[in-house]
Amino acid sequence: MKRSATVAACACAALTLSAFGSLPLAAPAAADPRLTEKQATATGSGGAVSTVDADASAAALSVLRKGGNAVDAAVAAAATLGVTEPYSAGIGGGGYFVHYDAESGEVSTLDGRETAPAALSQQDFIDPATGERYPFSPELVTSGVAVGVPGTAATWQRALDEWGTLSLKKALAPAIRTADRGFVVDETFREQTLDNKERFAAFDSSAELFLPGGDAPEVGSTFKNHDLAATYRQLANKGVDEFYTGDLAEEISSTVQAPPIAEDTDLPVPVGEMTPEDLADYEVLEQEPTQVGYRGLEVFGMAPSSSGGTTVGEALGILDGFDPSGMSPADAQHHYLEASALAYADRGRYVGDPAFVDVPTAALTDPVFAAERACEIDPDSAAAKPVAPGDVTDYDGQCPSSTSGWEEKEDTENVSTTHLTTADRWGNVVSYTLTIEQTGGSGITVPGRGFLLNNELTDFTTAEYDPADPNRVEPGKRPRSSMAPTIVLKDGEPMLALGSPGGSTIITTTLQTLINRVDLGMSLPEAIAAPRASQRNTAAVTAEPEYLDTYADDLESLGHTLTPSGDSFTPNAEIGAVAAIEIGPDGTLTAAAEPRRRGGGSAMVLEGER
Ligand code: GLU
Repeated sequence: MKRSATVAACACAALTLSAFGSLPLAAPAAADPRLTEKQATATGSGGAVSTVDADASAAALSVLRKGGNAVDAAVAAAATLGVTEPYSAGIGGGGYFVHYDAESGEVSTLDGRETAPAALSQQDFIDPATGERYPFSPELVTSGVAVGVPGTAATWQRALDEWGTLSLKKALAPAIRTADRGFVVDETFREQTLDNKERFAAFDSSAELFLPGGDAPEVGSTFKNHDLAATYRQLANKGVDEFYTGDLAEEISSTVQAPPIAEDTDLPVPVGEMTPEDLADYEVLEQEPTQVGYRGLEVFGMAPSSSGGTTVGEALGILDGFDPSGMSPADAQHHYLEASALAYADRGRYVGDPAFVDVPTAALTDPVFAAERACEIDPDSAAAKPVAPGDVTDYDGQCPSSTSGWEEKEDTENVSTTHLTTADRWGNVVSYTLTIEQTGGSGITVPGRGFLLNNELTDFTTAEYDPADPNRVEPGKRPRSSMAPTIVLKDGEPMLALGSPGGSTIITTTLQTLINRVDLGMSLPEAIAAPRASQRNTAAVTAEPEYLDTYADDLESLGHTLTPSGDSFTPNAEIGAVAAIEIGPDGTLTAAAEPRRRGGGSAMVLEGER
């Protein structure tokens, strides 16, 4: 969100740099985050943060400045994003947290994905009035049935318990302040509210919070969320169990089962099955990261239930057999697109919640399997899409004679969700993606609580029931995600951490940014700014306008079909919104966010010794 210059002139001169203690700010030097202009790149060495939002970055920076570590800062930033980016993230949703521990040298991950209620069944996705499956929109998108049991609050507590130094109370403090004091509404917030006007108006609680006086808040006005501040305060004072067992759990489940539907809405709003027991049973899962070697680097990602780590990893594994740096720019793009399509074919065929389906994570990230998949790339010609998945049960790195078919299902490319990256002076790094799925989630605010519930269960294959589909709806299951928080090590030390929102384009954005940085000679800010394209094993590659201008002719002559990106959920055609940090060999931290997409992100650093 961009802060306006008029606000930047407000009388806060008393809050000077001296308030920042021993580590002076190298980036935007305002003590009041509402005064902080966005800056897409910042370089320092005492700690760094990159998010989409200046308030969130300022919250993380204030924690780092006071001696908090990267995990503390990540939780503070995420909680603030719940205030300032309530349509993308918050305690009504879930996410994936990847952590590099400087002391042990280990990368660990937390799976805080939303989970289907225990009573959810295929039947819940069938309209009793018609006997047909509910369409994605408007029925499922704005519904109780698509609300998964939220994992974000539990993820924050678990991350702090495992690796943080702050209490939840301290980590939530900046967000509580921002919620009470308010933030200045920018164009993005107003637009996103207007885009959701019909959905928010369908629920009394959402209309009251996000449509005061019946309209989206004006640009330049101050948006306060005292209900959310009070909810955060409750968690801060009484612990995160309040969310999963107390009154709040009762309120969340009853909101899912009986949303506060406005009298005059035409939206159908199918109701859900969530119970307080579902909340009490929720578990954050700590699990091994995915790991692949790429050009001598080690790339760590999020294992299933997200498809991020296996799909980014497999595509890198395939590309490791080629040398994009020695190719023409169009040939390099051709290989990127083809590797991505192959990895997507395997994602669709094999990846779901490993608690329910046998996911061949080891094969998908195995260089021998990747070498075999690389055989499918013709350097001179694009394969017909969709390409078939590989055989994970029988591979030896030799080119196979045939593969079996699989049809791709889904996916939208909405730019909800948010990614943040933090690094501290001790060398710890966090890469964290969190979401409520659609921009505005389910559209349903828990009455009096100040946060929206997710509609994450739309990430299941809901349009049909196929027993062979690893992502079919099942009770208690986590829907397959594309979120791809990533940490890259070089010689055992962190070199780069990144991630993005963007639905299923998250994977291609992360992959493309890595290739741009590692292979194509771009600096991190250049790698992020470069135009994007996404090939998810579909007939056409979706691409941003600048990408089409640059590559369409050459790629079309290789047999690719290209089409402008954007769908009804992302009419502005932007793909992704990367937030990243690079750690140089001398310890220099380059925090880099989007210079333009989604209104530009916010990178901040501290000076000082690592
Ligand atoms: N629900 C999506 C996923 O987990 C993320 C939402 C988005 O970025 O649009 O993959």
